[in-house]
Amino acid sequence: MTLVLVFGSFGLIVGSFLNVLVLREGKETISGRSVCPSCRARIRSHDLVPVLSWVLLGGRCRDCKARISLQYPLVELSTAVLFALIGAAPIELPFKLVALPIAALLLAIAVHDLRTTIIPDRWVLMCGILTLSAALFGVVGTGASYAFAVLAGPLTALPLFLLWLVSDGKWMGLGDSKLALSIGWLLGIEGGLIAVLFAFILGAAVSLPLLAMSSDAVQGFVRTLIPIPAFRDGRMRFTMKSEVPFGPFLVASCLIVWFAHLYALPLPL
Ligand SMILES: [Zn+2]
Repeated sequence: MTLVLVFGSFGLIVGSFLNVLVLREGKETISGRSVCPSCRARIRSHDLVPVLSWVLLGGRCRDCKARISLQYPLVELSTAVLFALIGAAPIELPFKLVALPIAALLLAIAVHDLRTTIIPDRWVLMCGILTLSAALFGVVGTGASYAFAVLAGPLTALPLFLLWLVSDGKWMGLGDSKLALSIGWLLGIEGGLIAVLFAFILGAAVSLPLLAMSSDAVQGFVRTLIPIPAFRDGRMRFTMKSEVPFGPFLVASCLIVWFAHLYALPLPL
């Protein structure tokens, strides 16, 4: 129980760091004090407490009262929940410690893709190194084959890579198949392919109703509901032509299959 609380609290702190990472990716440095994006006022250190500060301030800047995105507390909470789940999983401590940065990276990738429809190369590279190392380390002493552990990545990525190839990048981004490499190494071939299939089902379940109501009136309404800049300024629309990011679906289904593995739960697929 103590470990769950420690991991969960650590997740809150890592989550607020992930928010900074996502916002500042591709911009100058990630160091320096946080400022309000509206009024540029420095954010006081007592207003940087994960989740709590956002709630106490009513989701608004203390200085200019501009709305602060729901993304901040959501990412902090999600990281805390993921870390707590890893802490509570019936696996050895070294595996838990490797699982933490993988979970954090997957979450950051999903949020960045959701905001910008881009999956940063550096992040999938880091994720790939961690998951491949974990896959090779997992083989030690089990008598399983190293070749199988290594091939799990490319084989999981192959369907997405082919979709990217035949559609000339229209149906699928190349970043999605790079991400799928990590998913294969993390889950193995079978788990990886199940995760990809499940991501398509999740994607369809979310996108099709949105496509159905892609009229301008509904668009405007949805835009006020979803606190993502790409939706608000109309860069991202729910039409057949729109680029709905697939990364968040891949990450969500990867996490579901992964945690089912960790907790030895049966999957409905
Ligand atoms: Zn402000």
